[in-house]
Amino acid sequence: MTNYDILVVGGGPGGYIAAVTAAKYGFSVALIEKEPEQGGGLGGTCLNRGCIPSKTWLDNAETIERVKQASKRGIDAQVVNIDMPAMVKFKDRVVKRLSMGVGALLKSWNVALYNGTAVVHDLDNVVVTSAKDKENEIVLGCKRLILATGSRPATIPIPGADLPQVLTSDDIFNIQTIPPRLTIVGGGVIGVEMARIFSAFGSKVTIVEALPRLAPNLDEEIADALAKSLKSAKIAIKTGVKVEAIDPADGEEVSVVISNNGAEERIPSDVVLMAVGRAPNTDAFSELRLDMNRRFVKVDPNTLQTSHQDVYAIGDITGLSMLAHSASMMGERAAKVAVQSLNGSDSDEFYPFPIDYASIPSVVYGEPSAASVGMSQQAAEEYCAGNSLTLSIGRTIFGGNGRAVASGMGEGFVKILVASGDCQTRILGIHIFGPMASELINEASVLVNGTADVQRAASVVHAHPTFGETLSIALHDALGGSSHQPPKK
Ligand code: FAD
Ligand code: NAD
Repeated sequence: MTNYDILVVGGGPGGYIAAVTAAKYGFSVALIEKEPEQGGGLGGTCLNRGCIPSKTWLDNAETIERVKQASKRGIDAQVVNIDMPAMVKFKDRVVKRLSMGVGALLKSWNVALYNGTAVVHDLDNVVVTSAKDKENEIVLGCKRLILATGSRPATIPIPGADLPQVLTSDDIFNIQTIPPRLTIVGGGVIGVEMARIFSAFGSKVTIVEALPRLAPNLDEEIADALAKSLKSAKIAIKTGVKVEAIDPADGEEVSVVISNNGAEERIPSDVVLMAVGRAPNTDAFSELRLDMNRRFVKVDPNTLQTSHQDVYAIGDITGLSMLAHSASMMGERAAKVAVQSLNGSDSDEFYPFPIDYASIPSVVYGEPSAASVGMSQQAAEEYCAGNSLTLSIGRTIFGGNGRAVASGMGEGFVKILVASGDCQTRILGIHIFGPMASELINEASVLVNGTADVQRAASVVHAHPTFGETLSIALHDALGGSSHQPPKK
């Protein structure tokens, strides 16, 4: 048996950052990852079949849309021809390059890498099985264990869910032909992003969502603007409907059978994408009998410690925030807490200040994207009412932003929620629906998470002409009015 100070199971954005963080402090660290044996690479769901494949294809989708719009700008663009197998190959090259980068990063910090599937019996008995060498199991031991096994697509138990035409995000990035009709079950983040992609590729897309509105986690005004924008891109949206079955029909097609206000409707489809959430991967360590929070591993949200004091859980398996940057942040935190417990350090660097999960930025990508950080307007209204604070809402539209209009991207708006009254002014939330929202949200995040004085932040000069000027204008608007806008009503 080989022993390590810290052992990490899972090489996604949570696991590899945890491993590198622990190694930086001089501890012996190993990481176990099964993906390379199954045709993928390091980097987890995010890199192999999540964030990166989807953004590679979103970029293709945006390129197509821009070429289609080019004639308005005086550019006689050629007809768009899409080569789907070539798009899959390009995506594979992007993934491989980044995945190799993760491998090089681990190597540079001397993290030992075990390719295989881990089963945790206890901390002195973590068994790694390699598909290539089933006879020879490797047994590892550790002082601290960090679990980062991620998640997989959730399924719904309806007839026809296992038909070959029914795909999940695990399969769709290898599709070789563009489906003429794509029905997406689930109007959450994956549903909306894939709808944008395949609509631009030429599919007739229908989104079927159980709840009354799309992207239910977003600020309501942003979600409404997103739905309107999808509809204007000719994406059909059916909300508040129940999916009853997927019915095999004659030939290659299937029908998604829904009940809409009690009436049965059938949606003929060539491919059905299931995007109804994700389920955590917890089988590998079930013998540890950790306390659970429904299907997710229960952790202290600040230390990421599980009910076993030497075992930490991070990323999607905690269900605290199912985002890649959240997984990495949790990985860094768990590694630092584990390092501190091993060497007894109590320096400030290791102090586990509370993590504000509500202030982690999130983006529903597309063109325009919807990006948010902090409280929704509804939550801010309740918070201010409950704390005798005054809520000011600053706004601006991209239709008034020089750079956005010049780029033909004048759709959308910025909304900033500012609370004042307790001798200080604080930004509670920023919501952006518009071009470059996924980039602008990082500045927004500094504003919401920062300790900066809001008046000082408003005086920061933004370069012109840039999309980011919208943040400055909306902040001035919240604080009494912007000289770039008509008087506030
Ligand atoms: P994972 O990335 O799932 O990694 C877990 C790893 O553990 C996997 O590599 C797995 O092979 C390995 N593993 C599991 N069990 C074992 C075992 N027994 N032995 C060895 N190895 C094991 N998030 C964003 O922030 N931005 C986005 O744009 C975004 N886009 C997404 C698009 C799609 C289509 C999907 C599906 C997800 C997207 N996400 C996005 C979410 C993001 O991918 C996840 O939140 C993130 O990958 C979670 O990281 P993790 O480290 O917890 O788990
Ligand atoms: P999600 O939770 O965002 O959305 C799932 C949607 O499916 C919900 O709106 C839900 O109401 C709906 N639904 C559930 N059961 C249904 C049914 N039977 N019929 C119709 N609709 C049903 O989940 P997702 O879109 O699968 O994404 C999974 C996770 O991956 C997300 O939580 C997100 O954190 C992460 N992700 C993030 C990004 C990003 O950051 N841009 C992109 C993709 C995925």
